[in-house]
Amino acid sequence: MLVFKFGGASVKDADGIVNLAKVVKNYSADQILIVVSAMGKTTNALENLTKAYVNGSEELQGIFEDIKTYHYTIIEKLFEPYHPVFNDVANTFVEIEWLIEDAPHEDYDFVYDQIVSVGELVSTRIVNAYLNKEGFKSQWIDVRGYIHTDNTYREGAVQWAKTRESINTGIPGLLQKGVVVTQGFLGGTSENFTTTLGREGSDYTASIFAACLGAESVTTWKDVPGILNADPKYFEDTVKFDELSYSEAIEMTYYGASVIHPKTIKPLQNAKIPLFVKPFFDPRATGTLIHENSDNKFIKPVIILKQNQVLLSLSAKDYSFISEDHLSNIFKMFAQNHIKVNMMQTSALSFSVCFDLNEERFKKLLKDLSPEFKAKYNNNLCLVTVRHYLRSSLSELTDGKTILLEQLSRNTVQMVVKESF
Ligand code: ASP
Ligand code: MG
Repeated sequence: MLVFKFGGASVKDADGIVNLAKVVKNYSADQILIVVSAMGKTTNALENLTKAYVNGSEELQGIFEDIKTYHYTIIEKLFEPYHPVFNDVANTFVEIEWLIEDAPHEDYDFVYDQIVSVGELVSTRIVNAYLNKEGFKSQWIDVRGYIHTDNTYREGAVQWAKTRESINTGIPGLLQKGVVVTQGFLGGTSENFTTTLGREGSDYTASIFAACLGAESVTTWKDVPGILNADPKYFEDTVKFDELSYSEAIEMTYYGASVIHPKTIKPLQNAKIPLFVKPFFDPRATGTLIHENSDNKFIKPVIILKQNQVLLSLSAKDYSFISEDHLSNIFKMFAQNHIKVNMMQTSALSFSVCFDLNEERFKKLLKDLSPEFKAKYNNNLCLVTVRHYLRSSLSELTDGKTILLEQLSRNTVQMVVKESF
């Protein structure tokens, strides 16, 4: 049994969906569960819609219309008029229409999940209908009945025992009848509310299904030839890794390599399930294989960029040294606000910490910190991590850039720099 994950870029237009069906056809002898993300940049658009709704912005209807038009343009190319998919898509968008008629719920993250999840609900309706049109016996399932989470909106924590039970009870029977199509990125709470698993979380969804079902492998179909040593958008002469160990892949994703969601690898490693990262535009290519016994060969250092970083410097308002008590309070506030620390450094009078900017959470954090600490910050920074680095090539990388914070260990260098790449 195989698990496939198709990301937003692979289903960004009608051709992408046609290609998806071709890829799946190559594996017609296998049982396949297909996890699909929202199409193209739909999740970003739905994030904007959520903001517009909560802020009472006039742009709300325009943003919503654009999202609908984008999807309808795609289905008009794939299906004859009056195909039932038009109704399915309309009914899915109605969820948003109902929600935005009322005043917003006070919990932003809750509202976010109820709206943003529509991207995956719609994309899977379309993919499922197209697969059926192409003669696959495809079955659409609502992932929220299988992946159970707590109610940490935007970062739902998976309840593994319950999830495993639902998946193992429901899925194997369906796989015997044909392919199964489901949503990445989403979960459901015990009160039947929708949660999301964190941006780019569809890989994690694939990994959860694979781990529960004991799949033979997971393949994530991407717009790159495999895992590269650096992002070709920013660097020339990148090289592809043919294979990587689970541990190296975990390290890379921890530092922000966006090719796979960080939570994806661990469940696969525990269950010893290999993960392939392959190009959807060249499905016969070997891609990158992530598995147990890999002797990672680092022909080139791995360079990982994390954009949109904040560097926050805190000092105690009473001018005292930064103590363990201070640090413990600071970390508590980071945890409460669900802000993950990417890098940090202490000195006698200040504590510097670098993290991804999330405006709502950052505002709240500053408020929480303000009784005890003075805060200074820079934003729009870039965190550069280089693994398996060569000292000689580091200066080339940072030439002409201002380094605000730097840390070196034997294997890894991290630098917060002012200019983007
Ligand atoms: N659609 C979601 C996102 O863009 C999940 C995913 O793509 O994995 O973050
Ligand atoms: Mg995506």
